[in-house]
Amino acid sequence: MLQQNSLIKAADLLSKSSFTVAFTGAGISVESGIPPFRGPGGIWNQYDPKVLDLNYFHLHPQESWIVIKEIFYDFFQNIEPNPAHKTLALWESQNSVNVVITQNIDHLHQKAGSQNVIDFHGNAHRLVCLSCHWKTEDFQSLLKNLPPLCPKCGEILKPDFVFFGENIPQLAYQNAFEAAQKAEVFIIIGTSGEVSPANQIPVIAKQNGAVIIEINNDKSLYTNNLTDIYLSGKASEILLALQHIINENNKNHYHA
Ligand code: NAD
Repeated sequence: MLQQNSLIKAADLLSKSSFTVAFTGAGISVESGIPPFRGPGGIWNQYDPKVLDLNYFHLHPQESWIVIKEIFYDFFQNIEPNPAHKTLALWESQNSVNVVITQNIDHLHQKAGSQNVIDFHGNAHRLVCLSCHWKTEDFQSLLKNLPPLCPKCGEILKPDFVFFGENIPQLAYQNAFEAAQKAEVFIIIGTSGEVSPANQIPVIAKQNGAVIIEINNDKSLYTNNLTDIYLSGKASEILLALQHIINENNKNHYHA
């Protein structure tokens, strides 16, 4: 019952908000079959994260690429967006969500139809040359020989997401913090809040007056100190429940 009241309150806030930002983490893609990096079943229990350390990658490109290809290209290739990604895309098309800021690199928001997505940690969907910065989204043939080499200058290509030891892309950083400052409603979905500086984005939203709604099946670092409305459960279940309430409210509104 308590959760139902929170859902109703959250749906009402979402319907009335003039600028809504969704901030997503690994949890939103768990139901698509991508495990989180850490914790039980996490990717780094199976693989060594050193392959995503920039220095290590420079020194051992082939060894790193063999693991990177297995996780981020062979495995990610067959993954599809789930109802949580799709609901956010629907809300964007209805002007109920203005921006999605994601820490994920899986491209699932875009695949679900979201257009205004800030990839705070970059995206596995592109490769970038470490030397001449040439970028491509058409790289399947380049992955036949590892490490893939830049067709322009012959240097090694790297996935265009942020490795350990790399800075956040400047434009993504700027756009994310600007969106957070403008947010009236800020929905945090499926993130532990442990990764910096991404974890500061909701803090900026709160400091600038946003109401913070959080969806997570467990408590995060935000739950007890930043979150105004905590919705406990799987991302897709909660987003579909919110969508259902919004639909019902709209029906009643039209019949009134
Ligand atoms: P995290 O692994 O630290 O935390 C995941 C959070 O999601 C946890 O709080 C967990 O309780 C919650 N969660 C798990 N399943 C859920 C579900 N079905 N519904 C709702 N919540 C659920 O993830 P993070 O905070 O995003 O930080 C991890 C970093 O690793 C990120 O920076 C991200 O770039 C990267 N990462 C990306 C992917 C991806 O692209 N899909 C996957 C793993 C990690």
